[in-house]
This record gives sequence, structure tokens and C-alpha cells, in this order.
Amino acid sequence: MRFPLALSAKIAGHIIKHKLRRTPKFAMVLQLEPLHTCNLTCTGCGRIREYSTSLKDMVPLEKCLAVAEECDAPMVSICGGEPLIYPRIEELVNGILRQGRIVYICTNGMFMRKKMKDYLAARYASDPSLEALVSKLLDEKLITEKDAEAIRKADPAAAQKPVIAPTKWLYWNVHIDGLEYTHDLIVEREGVFKECVEAIRMAKLLGYQVATNTTVYRETDVREIEDMFKFFSWLGVDGHTISPGYDYDAAKKDMVKRLGKDPREFFLTRDMTRKKFERILEWGKQFTIFGTPVYQEFLAGIRELTCTAWAIPTYNIRGWKAPCYLMTDGHYSTYQEMLEKVDWNKYGVVNGVARDPRCENCMVHCGYDPSGALGTNYQRGDNWKNFKYNFWPRPKPCAEGAKVNAFNGASVGKGHLAEAKAAIKSGLAGAKSAFARGGNDLQTQPVAGNGGCGSGTSARDELLAKIRRKED
Ligand code: SF4
Ligand code: SF4
Repeated sequence: MRFPLALSAKIAGHIIKHKLRRTPKFAMVLQLEPLHTCNLTCTGCGRIREYSTSLKDMVPLEKCLAVAEECDAPMVSICGGEPLIYPRIEELVNGILRQGRIVYICTNGMFMRKKMKDYLAARYASDPSLEALVSKLLDEKLITEKDAEAIRKADPAAAQKPVIAPTKWLYWNVHIDGLEYTHDLIVEREGVFKECVEAIRMAKLLGYQVATNTTVYRETDVREIEDMFKFFSWLGVDGHTISPGYDYDAAKKDMVKRLGKDPREFFLTRDMTRKKFERILEWGKQFTIFGTPVYQEFLAGIRELTCTAWAIPTYNIRGWKAPCYLMTDGHYSTYQEMLEKVDWNKYGVVNGVARDPRCENCMVHCGYDPSGALGTNYQRGDNWKNFKYNFWPRPKPCAEGAKVNAFNGASVGKGHLAEAKAAIKSGLAGAKSAFARGGNDLQTQPVAGNGGCGSGTSARDELLAKIRRKED
């Protein structure tokens, strides 16, 4: 099967339960942001900028667990910021698992190995079979001798600590926006891609489920995305989330007013998204792409869907964020209050007409993927299509992935961040450095991404465009 039976059955049961009860609106996935602090400062990240004045604030553990109960979504995506910085992340993950929900930890990958070493240290004394795994991790250079010693000699107190252990109900969801060169540029730190790959390899050896989470931008080279799928499929990754990035009205206006630029130069419009995703149905056959085939048809331009942002609500330090993960028109104290008070008919695109100009180019998964599962634009055969996609055999790991030149940046000594900074400095007149921090530059605009990590498009696209121009 493409996805574990218990997980598919849980989600299907949730939908059927609400359909039978005729619940008009209900949650499918909770995007839980316990904090917005992050160890990285990716180009164009909306989250660390929109919430820049409250980066030190956190949602208390008890509140996180309570909001998961409150909206009762079968899946909880713990994001942020970087969720592994949350001091009680282990208790949070285990608390949600105890509630019987599926957990995705949306991470930039930098602390995954540490968390997995904590797991090994906690279980080593009671599970002698782990020695073989520790030796294997050493052989593969995924841990050091010092790490192995610390695991083997962990004091009994380590066994009492909560840890993130592998289970079929849990996925690491690792943010990857390309192969090494591109990804390190976007996250603005060399070595991040390599660390993600090592963390993923370690996770697979230890029996965790792992997904990747990618946003496609105007400047994204689709061939690179295909190579990325091949590479991670070959590494044994269990699935891929992919979604178009987009920028909304405020950022567009800024482009025109402050920089005197034509927004069409930068933004991923609906037509561009469809072009980028024209092969997504093929990708869905070759790789384990998460999301329904109905949503994939929408991305490929084969059909229309209406936005169901209420099905993927976001909770963070300010409350329930409305109308969606991307746009903020208000925060509410309960999910029910948000459902009742927000005029949902004001949002989305219906028959090609944007009800809100900020929604015009949005096709993101947190607005439209649930529409495919919930049948809001049902067409004959959709249920069978979704059933077949979920229950048919999973695509095999892609052997071609072994040939992909994934380490095309820091690993081959490109020093590409310095190169990129130089290119940006000599870039277009009027545009400030995509690496600049603070001030009224492009990155401070509220920009939007795919729902995995707060991420945006304009600054990233500009960065990638300039680098490509320099390479040509
Ligand atoms: S995109 Fe994610 S990893 Fe990057 S700075 Fe934002 S929250 Fe952190
Ligand atoms: S169309 Fe996109 S931006 Fe608009 S409400 Fe839906 S998810 Fe949010």
C-alpha cells in the first residue's frame, strides 16, 4: 500500500464520521506552531518575520494538547519556527500520539540526529538489539565514537526521559527545497542539505518514517525537483509533500510602489503553477507524493477546486489564525469561534474569480488539498481515484536516484554562499540584498509558503534568478 493501512483508515473514518453527521466544517490537519523561534533564517521565511516580535513566546504544552483535542483533527503537523527547539517537544509528540493522532514533525533537519541519539540512549540499556544499530550507525559515519559511548553509557535517568521513538503514527517531515546547492542557498547556510541527508539516513536505519516537504517557486527548476524526488526515493523516504509557493497582494503592491517592478517578473501565477506542476500526475505514479490525486489534477490545471482552509487550521501563540496558514486577518480563542465568525465565502478562487485579491494566485496544499479529500468539488469517479491512490502498492525506491548529483554545493567546495552574496550585491538596481536582515527590505514583507515551515517566494525567487543569471 502507498500509505500505512491504519493511517489511511483513520483519515477515511474521520471523513465518513463527519459526512454521516453532516458536519459542515471540520478539521483534517492541525498546523500547530508551539513557537516561532528558529535556528535558521531562510531567505523569504514569512514566519520568523511575521511573528518577529514574539519569537521568544511559546504555547504551553498543556495548551498545545488541549487545542489538538479541541479541533480533533486526525493529523497534527507540528511546525513553527523549528519545533525541535520547543523545550517539551518529546512530551508534546507523545501526548498527541496518546490522543490517537498521526504526528508530522516539520523540521529543518538540524536537530534530528540529536533527538534520535536521545532515543537510543534512553532505550539502549533495556534493548540489547540496539547495539547492532549503534555499530551500523558508526560504520555509516552517522554518529561519532563519542556519540556511541554516550549512548552505551547513558545513566539510568536517561531511560526515564521522554523521547521521540519510531512508530507508524509518526513522520519526520524534512524541509528540502532542492539539491545541495539550491537548498543551502535558500536556507542561507552551507552544510544544511548534507545534515538533512544524514539525518534522513539515520532515521531510516532506526525505523522512523520520513517525508520531505518542498515548495516550488517561480525560479525552481522542475528537473531539479524530479532529481530531488529520485534521490530521496532512493534513500528510502516514505513520501513527499510538494506545494506551490505564492505571494499575495501586499507583497505585489510593494513590488510596484517601492521597487518600481512588474510583479509578473517575480510571482508564481496560477498559470505558472500549472506549468510547473504539469507532470505531477506522473510524479504521483513514480514517487509517493502525499496529497490526493484530485488536488494533483488541480495543480496540473485539469480541474478547479474551492479553498477549504478551515480544514487545515493553524494554532499559534496568538490563537487560531484565520483565514489560513498563509494570511492573517485575525486570531480566535477557539476553533469553533473561528469557524463561526470568519466569513469563509470571502476567500478563495471560484470559477477563476478571486473572492479576495490576496487569494488570486494561491493553489497551496493547505487551502486546496483537503478539498480533494472532502469532495467539495466532487466529480464522478473521484472517490475511486482517491481510494486507488491510497490503497495501491507504493512506488518502489527509485534506482536512478543513486546517479543523481545531489551534493553539488558545499560538499564539492563551491563556497556558494559567498558566491551568491557577491551576485546579490552586484544585482538589479533598487533591489536590496536577499541576505539583508531587518529594515524594510523584501524579506520583511508578509510572504507565504507551503505550510511546512514559514516560507515565501519573492525574495527566494529573486535570489535564485540572480544566481542563475550569473551562471549563464
Ligand atoms: S523557513 Fe522554516 S527553517 Fe527556515 S527560517 Fe523559517 S521556520 Fe526556520
Ligand atoms: S485561497 Fe489560499 S490564501 Fe486564500 S484563504 Fe485559501 S489558502 Fe488562504
